[in-house]
Amino acid sequence: MDKRIWRFGLDETGADVTEGTAHDNFTLGGKGANLAEMARIGLPVPAGFTISCQTCMDYARGGNVWPEGVLDGIAEARADLERRCGKRLGDAEDPLLVSVRSGAPFSMPGMMDTVLDLGLNDASVLGLAKQTSNDRFAWDSYRRFIQMFSNVVMGIDSDLFEDAIKDAKAAAGVAADTELDAEQLQQLAATFKQIFSENVSAEEHPELVGENGACQFPQDPAVQLTLAVAAVFGSWDCERARLYRRQNNIADDLGTAVNVQAMAFGNKGNTSASGVAFTRNPATGEREFYGDYLVNAQGEDVVAGIRNTEPIETLRHTPGLEEAGEQLERIFGILENHYRDMMDIEFTIEQGKLYMLQTRVGKRTAAAALKIAVDLEREGLITREEALLRINPAQLDQLMHPQIAKGVERNVIARGLNASPGAAVGAVVFSAADAVAAAEAGQACVLVRWETTPDDLAGMTAAEGILTSHGGKTSHAAVIARGMGKPCVCGVDALHIDAAAKQVSVAGTDLVLHEGDVVSIDGGTGEVMLGAAALERPGTTGDLATVLGWADDVRRLGVRANADNPADARLSLELGAEGIGLTRTEHMFLGERKDIIQRFILANNDEERAAAADELSRAQEGDFYEILDAMDGLPVTIRLLDPPLHEFLDNPRDLAVHLAHMESEGAPAEEIARLRALLDRIDALSEANPMLGLRGCRLGFAFPELPVLQTHAIARATVRLKREGKNPRPHIMVPLVCLNAEIREMRGIVERAIIDIEVETGVRLGEIPVGTMIELPRAAVMADRIARHADFFSFGTNDLTQTALGFSRDDVEGKVLPSYLKANILARNPFETVDEGVAKLVGMGCELGRAARPGISLGVCGEHGGDPDSIRTFYDLGLDYVSCSPYRVPVARLAAAQATLSSKARPYVPLNPRRAERPARQPFAEQV
Ligand code: PEP
Ligand code: MG
Repeated sequence: MDKRIWRFGLDETGADVTEGTAHDNFTLGGKGANLAEMARIGLPVPAGFTISCQTCMDYARGGNVWPEGVLDGIAEARADLERRCGKRLGDAEDPLLVSVRSGAPFSMPGMMDTVLDLGLNDASVLGLAKQTSNDRFAWDSYRRFIQMFSNVVMGIDSDLFEDAIKDAKAAAGVAADTELDAEQLQQLAATFKQIFSENVSAEEHPELVGENGACQFPQDPAVQLTLAVAAVFGSWDCERARLYRRQNNIADDLGTAVNVQAMAFGNKGNTSASGVAFTRNPATGEREFYGDYLVNAQGEDVVAGIRNTEPIETLRHTPGLEEAGEQLERIFGILENHYRDMMDIEFTIEQGKLYMLQTRVGKRTAAAALKIAVDLEREGLITREEALLRINPAQLDQLMHPQIAKGVERNVIARGLNASPGAAVGAVVFSAADAVAAAEAGQACVLVRWETTPDDLAGMTAAEGILTSHGGKTSHAAVIARGMGKPCVCGVDALHIDAAAKQVSVAGTDLVLHEGDVVSIDGGTGEVMLGAAALERPGTTGDLATVLGWADDVRRLGVRANADNPADARLSLELGAEGIGLTRTEHMFLGERKDIIQRFILANNDEERAAAADELSRAQEGDFYEILDAMDGLPVTIRLLDPPLHEFLDNPRDLAVHLAHMESEGAPAEEIARLRALLDRIDALSEANPMLGLRGCRLGFAFPELPVLQTHAIARATVRLKREGKNPRPHIMVPLVCLNAEIREMRGIVERAIIDIEVETGVRLGEIPVGTMIELPRAAVMADRIARHADFFSFGTNDLTQTALGFSRDDVEGKVLPSYLKANILARNPFETVDEGVAKLVGMGCELGRAARPGISLGVCGEHGGDPDSIRTFYDLGLDYVSCSPYRVPVARLAAAQATLSSKARPYVPLNPRRAERPARQPFAEQV
């Protein structure tokens, strides 16, 4: 059986007895593994032990039953910790207190449970008072412990305790918690124990039943510890943790570790403090100290945003904290050199002595990720290849997100902390539920909260941006918003929020905003503005350009764009596309052109249809001309018409209603006859399963004018550009092919249509490649036959997913997927990240295609072409390029580079091997 309990920190002789390292994060969780690593490299970490993630899963799988030997193991580890610290839990003279914290393999900030000050009871509270000569501190710790234990471990409503605090303050005639004296806190502890007794069921907790038949607050530290560990294990499966895992693609079967660690007290007076910090600025990436601390406070107070914090750079100048502040700054450097990354730190200073409570690789915005990667490479700490692997490509999306347009007037009504960059515009809402409702109704909103808690996660996801009146840059709202890439302004003191009345007033003004009023926030400056500010998207410059340049040097997978109009073509070129992988020509039939295609479909005779066809062809020629011109010299894959024709006609239900209305109004008979004939034609075209019906290349056989008119338009546009001395490179693509005769015949039609134009214009067009979409399973498994008639394949993974899984792409995301994802029947949405089975079909299509036609060009143009995980799969399968929407082109460039660097299927051989060498790690001793 795997080792379940691992020690970290020093023993009673001062020798390090740490058993794990940073590499053990799947066993010890991120927190446990990094505590072990910090202890191992000699940083001041309070002693403790970690119970493994596997134990959590075994406990859960067994139906919340302790696996054999675990309780004994915890008892032994506790005794060992007591020996190492020279103190005992529950001791009436000099008690040891511990924290019990969760810590999963991947960071899930604030999602799971923590219990502090464990080990306090009616006896040890007196010991703590004696040791610290501070009765108030001891009783405050005890009442905090009872409150936290009752809420976190026993699930008692925290409002009951908050109400009791309010009553105590009222009785004492004071305004703040800090004004309650030792005696009043002692009385509060007694009240809290009473609340505990009244709210814990004797049936559920027979082990806590006392002499009076009611449950008593547990006095035995062993019982406290067992219950707390069980609660942390249980919190792995709570609703908000599950939601967070789903959103962040974290597997449900990893479990959380539990870290039991000697407490260090940041609330022992003015030479004590607690804080959180980053070794660089996580919002901008600047190399500067970043974080907050509070004198005389516990760590939770800093994150909870209850008191306004001090900036970390002032720590070394604060009387009594100077030495610890300087040591902390040294440790920033040590940690960066050791981990070779920007780190996030939690620390406590207890009476002048610094303790490190946590470190992990710091979460950062996309802009910061780029800057830090580029700077670390320049500082020689990481290689260029490592720098590329450090940036999450999905995060780059953030940089493509809007900023407030330059030069627009800002109607600033308040200012706060610039916690997460980017700008958001939306109607104010005051609860997570209202944010979700607004998003569902299609309304952009800004979530306004006093401070967010993990329960606000769904609302934060739904909102465009987050605005809080409290909390620092490391508060919950700030950390989570940065992780999500959402703009966030926090700590706006001037906002006085009345969430119940759904309104917020702005101090110093007469302004009162109600739910639905529109504001704009700038998470880069901390400004809050009234009304909707104009937004713009930034370009690919600075660090982004540097990183994308490095990515282009490394990647072997081409990146093209899906673009249907000249503006998108130009944009994709700016964003680095190397051609167009898909132009959906149906989009050119919308708007004003809808009328022409309707005339084509509804024509009464051949002449009418030919006239409409000619008009359509001329209209499309202009679009093709501009797109080919914008992409001069680069391949442009133009797909022949794909969707069922009824999509271009009026909705028959609306038309029937209109007809009935006209009849009841007594409209002229000819008009009624015309509408009835139209309705009959639409009915005749309607299908039960249009996605499996008259669409794709099938349309071209039903209406042979269509492929001809489209090819004529492409060929004429090409002739015009050639006459202007340009280098147009159209590729013509046939959609929804599954039989080799389909592509054979369609190719013939297209080639003859090209010749028509060559004859008409006298211009030789050279070879215009004709290829096909592979988007039906039969096409993938018969790709060798199809390749005989196709110069290229482009895998349409949207339809391939639809047809391989039998999931309607238009319905399944609302109807089937939510329950499948929730129940873990599917781990990912297969329309976002390519499904394994679909990938297998793509792989088969590539192999068969290449076998029949060596050198055939192979691409992907489904939505998956812009998804980083799918890009990795496509690279491994040997595709030549991916094609995605213009704004995802930068994401795809980076993801393609990462695929090259991390693929085992196609190992990376650097062009300049010296550059890829790992820099030597500085010896640790020299850094101290
Ligand atoms: C596809 O099916 O993947 C594809 C790109 O075509 P469309 O989305 O237009 O059906
Ligand atoms: Mg398709």
